[in-house]
Amino acid sequence: TERPPLLDDDEGGILLYSASSSSSGYGYVSIEKQRQRLPVFKYRMAILYLVETHATTIVVGETGSGKTTQIPQFLKEAGWADGGRVIACTQPRRLAVQAVASRVSEEMGVKLGEEVGYTIRFEDLTDRVTQDSTRIKFLTDGVLLREMMEDPLLTKYSVIMVDEAHERSISTDVLLGLLKKIQRRRPELRLIISSATIEAKSMAAFFHTSKKRRGLEGEDCVPKTEPAILSVEGRGFNVQIFYVEEPVSDYIQAAVSTVMSIHDQEPMGDILVFLTGQDDIDAAVRLLTEEAQNNRKSSSGLVVLPLYSGLSRADQDLVFSPIPRGKRKVVISTNIAETSLTLEGVSYVVDSGFSKQRFYNPISDIENLVVAPISKASARQRAGRAGRVRPGKCYRLYSEEYFVKEMSAEGIPEMQRSNLVSCVIQGCSGALEGCLLNMEGILDIRVGRRDKLKALGIDNILGFDWPASPSPEAMIRALEVLYSLGVLDDDAKLTSPAGFQVAEIPLEPMVSKMILASNQLGCSEEIITIAAILSIQSIWISVRGQQKDLDEAKLRFAAAEGDHVSFLNVYKGFLRSGKSPKWCNKNFVNYQAMRKVVEIREQLKRIAQRIGIVLKSCESDMQVVRKAVTAGFFANACNLEAFSHNGMYKTIRSSQEVYIHPSSVLFRVNPKWVIYNSLVSTDRQYMRNVISINPSWLIEAAPHFYQHHHPNSIPH
Ligand code: ADP
Ligand code: MG
Repeated sequence: TERPPLLDDDEGGILLYSASSSSSGYGYVSIEKQRQRLPVFKYRMAILYLVETHATTIVVGETGSGKTTQIPQFLKEAGWADGGRVIACTQPRRLAVQAVASRVSEEMGVKLGEEVGYTIRFEDLTDRVTQDSTRIKFLTDGVLLREMMEDPLLTKYSVIMVDEAHERSISTDVLLGLLKKIQRRRPELRLIISSATIEAKSMAAFFHTSKKRRGLEGEDCVPKTEPAILSVEGRGFNVQIFYVEEPVSDYIQAAVSTVMSIHDQEPMGDILVFLTGQDDIDAAVRLLTEEAQNNRKSSSGLVVLPLYSGLSRADQDLVFSPIPRGKRKVVISTNIAETSLTLEGVSYVVDSGFSKQRFYNPISDIENLVVAPISKASARQRAGRAGRVRPGKCYRLYSEEYFVKEMSAEGIPEMQRSNLVSCVIQGCSGALEGCLLNMEGILDIRVGRRDKLKALGIDNILGFDWPASPSPEAMIRALEVLYSLGVLDDDAKLTSPAGFQVAEIPLEPMVSKMILASNQLGCSEEIITIAAILSIQSIWISVRGQQKDLDEAKLRFAAAEGDHVSFLNVYKGFLRSGKSPKWCNKNFVNYQAMRKVVEIREQLKRIAQRIGIVLKSCESDMQVVRKAVTAGFFANACNLEAFSHNGMYKTIRSSQEVYIHPSSVLFRVNPKWVIYNSLVSTDRQYMRNVISINPSWLIEAAPHFYQHHHPNSIPH
């Protein structure tokens, strides 16, 4: 079968999916039949009735039962999108938004970007042709939060479906907290909360408010406040579970051998492997491809495909496309395939038992993305992926004893293990019309001195209705940073104009602040480039075994000031080459990533201009660039330990030991004072993307922060 053509729309830099050809080769009728076979189809009337009569409906159902793709269509067919209204469906993950929107437009036989559209950060595929034509809109929950800035009550939506609620991502939780407030003001708004596992009762309790509202329950248009719970009975088949006898030391290798032995011994059926991130997935793909080549018997049998969020649209589509008859598909995925996406034809699951998770320690104020054990709930979800079309098998790369005795029952909500800086600003910007939304909590708190803050505010902010309460320490840390950034005032309200501007830029507050500062410093052109590059995972091509060549290539762009300035050199080189793929290859620069950088940069430029930033280049004055970085990232300042022979730094904020990451141009250079963009932890805490600074800039940038909390840490 042919793969669907991808129309590359160069002007917008957006990939348009041609609607006339369907990836599966099915015609419209057959898709209709497929729809009717989904478990959720039997519940169509029940769902529509509950949504009509209840403010909130909670839908629980196995992954693949049709919640995400069908419910928005049911709603539209029932008239919820009439009269210019829009049905929204949120997802925690960008890739899921794209995949689901593309599937639904295909099912409806419409062109993606018209009646069915999607919005993710930096990519808006709605209303592109006919203004206001989009009736069903898929978006990340972060994007919906941002929409609240312009329209606090989200008035254009008739129904908002918050999907994948069991994931408890931080944006989902903030969104749920704010939607609950909005509901009080908009009795006609309907919420659907859908999830794969049974958490329905606590979610229902969260949404059940006893507070009085306008109108009487049961009257026309006034729905019941008590949430309805609907459970969609799936049709999952039995999945046989296998454990390893002894713990495995290398789960990548173990996963590869397991796939090979399934392929040798088991009947046909696709294999889904759960690893943790791009690095280990790419490694496993390479190993498997090599294995398959060496092992003659099975050399032609495997089609190995990666699945993670950094993939290009074309690579994403490959995962969902049929493969030649007689071959076996092996998809190696992050936990995105756990519940957000459904792959047809999987009969075998290999579960490493790990995923990448965010962990934040408010005491040391260090946030890390680490590979950590999954919960039992996740392990069950993963196993379930093998039993969608027929009985399947799941191979767990951990022992049964470990599963029973050591694995935790449920994961911890992200809100309780994250840095809350972005979360608080989202909460506050959602409350722009704060009084209107009656955001008790956030508005009551005073961010003054730390002791005062503790005394006055923290109980209130914890009293704000989050589905999961964040820790007071994490909240204090976040408020402190936002206050020092000049984003919040003493009343924890967004400052004008800085706070509003920062909230309007769809980037972390620290990056946004850096952009604002560049306006005064006259280097907005450079800083916007840096911001665009920082929002991409990596601009380098990394191929195992070619590390030395990559390092050499990097040296060509290396700047003594640090990584940020080196990025500017790469960007300049890329432009000078006429954006040439050849130039990229020669220099180990990832061409796709650079194209994305150019695209994001264009969007940031437009946003910057809208909020009144004057685009200006500082030419070769890198001091102002470093000052702008400092203005945003002052909280990440570190000082080289005197007499340190191994390059040990300590953070100014909490005296944590950190080191410059080997991928940085400042590795082994070790300037006395540096600022980092993020930390990664392996055996040590490593700083990624580092720039050298003059410590006096810290006090200039954040007098409150440094004079008040760390008076002796900086030389005057
Ligand atoms: P849920 O949200 O309940 O997990 P979905 O609505 O995502 O379920 O999926 C329902 C069904 O739609 C899946 O079982 C699968 O058959 C089909 N499907 C979903 N996405 C795609 C896709 N991108 N390509 C092909 N089929 C898909
Ligand atoms: Mg779904």
